[in-house]
Amino acid sequence: GQPAVSSIAESLAEQGIHTLLVQFTDLMGEAKGKLVPLHQLGTVLRNGAGFAGPSIVGTGLPRTGPRSEYYARGDATTLQPLPWLAGVARIVGDGFVDAEPFDACPRQILRRATARLADRGWTLQVGIEPEFFLLQPGMEGLVPFDERDRLAKPSYDLHSLLRQWPLLHTLREWLEACGLTVLQIDHEDANGQYEINFLHAEALVSADRLMLFKLAAHAAAERHGAVFSTHPKPLADQPGSGLHFHVSLWQGEQPVFDAVPSEGELSALGRHFVAGVLAHTPGLCALAAPIAASYVRLGATHSQSGSTWAPSVAAHGPNNRTALVRTLMGRFEWRLPDAAANPYLALAGLIAAGLDGIDRALEPPPACAADLAENALAAASAPPLPSDLRAAAQALLADPVLCAALGDTAAEQLAALQLAEYAASRRTVPQHEA
Ligand code: GLU
Ligand code: MG
Ligand code: MG
Repeated sequence: GQPAVSSIAESLAEQGIHTLLVQFTDLMGEAKGKLVPLHQLGTVLRNGAGFAGPSIVGTGLPRTGPRSEYYARGDATTLQPLPWLAGVARIVGDGFVDAEPFDACPRQILRRATARLADRGWTLQVGIEPEFFLLQPGMEGLVPFDERDRLAKPSYDLHSLLRQWPLLHTLREWLEACGLTVLQIDHEDANGQYEINFLHAEALVSADRLMLFKLAAHAAAERHGAVFSTHPKPLADQPGSGLHFHVSLWQGEQPVFDAVPSEGELSALGRHFVAGVLAHTPGLCALAAPIAASYVRLGATHSQSGSTWAPSVAAHGPNNRTALVRTLMGRFEWRLPDAAANPYLALAGLIAAGLDGIDRALEPPPACAADLAENALAAASAPPLPSDLRAAAQALLADPVLCAALGDTAAEQLAALQLAEYAASRRTVPQHEA
């Protein structure tokens, strides 16, 4: 059984913890929460920390009455002392309203999706690859933190990478202290852009870790005088930030996507899953590329330094980094999501799309080996992506599989927020053009 509340509290107190950071994620992917003294642990685990529901973006809860109260009920498995906040442990909350799981809570949405996998004896392993910018604080517009090297081709640049070593190493130490296994750190293809990879895990754990990564990265950047940014496309003439997902399905210890080598890279179930992801790509864009600037990233296959490596059409291909789905041996890389994506919603949508592909035994279109950024004919033969946030929001509402996965409240709230953001973005000059 579960350890008793008192023994959990005791062991936290022994580690010097006196405060809980009860954290949840709103519909737009922002971390939210409050600080609660450790002696409230029992309440946090049983009922949750209470919040004014209508103040949380995307809940659609009424302003008055019992259903206006939103509870983030702590998941004890996520308790984690935060190395950069002495005495504070994070606990991730699941949304509850009226003592029932709240259908529009992103973490509940992902729980429902992984439960559908579990019904078939499956788990999804996901490695999330965050790309991000370090920007200068207090600047008008988005200016890279480190401007000394205005390189034409900054990919893997060592000078900027090593100059940011104090910040990046701080971040790495914090992530490792939180139990993440850091795999690599590099300078990406734009000035001031970096990527840190950590080991894959089961979908819900990976989403929780991505949110932890973002908390740590904000704190590390601030400590070193920089601003951590998940903007999908801060610099018009340089690549944007992706959030690639490496995906494999497992039945216990058995990999479900592994094929006998003569069949190709993916098993039949793997091909069906990928076909489902491609078929639902227009609606998935609202989940994986959730803000107006996301479509500046997806619309630009070229930058001053060459390819931006962002997808522009719904294609797949073996080890093809210009395709939306890059297939590998026994797994695939989903390259659609950008740094602003809510990992819970993106993963829930991915699972719903993949299961639909499996249930209908969909076959993907022929694999594409062409460079889709360079070869206009090859690109024209694959379905284009929605050209802006409005088209993506409309595609989401028109996709019954994705709407069912999100539930009506979340699908409608998200689309409404996106349509409003789209309208606002039409009224202002985008920052990268300022
Ligand atoms: N930054 C690219 C993107 O927007 C990806 C670059 C890479 O393949 O690492 O998706
Ligand atoms: Mg990368
Ligand atoms: Mg990648």
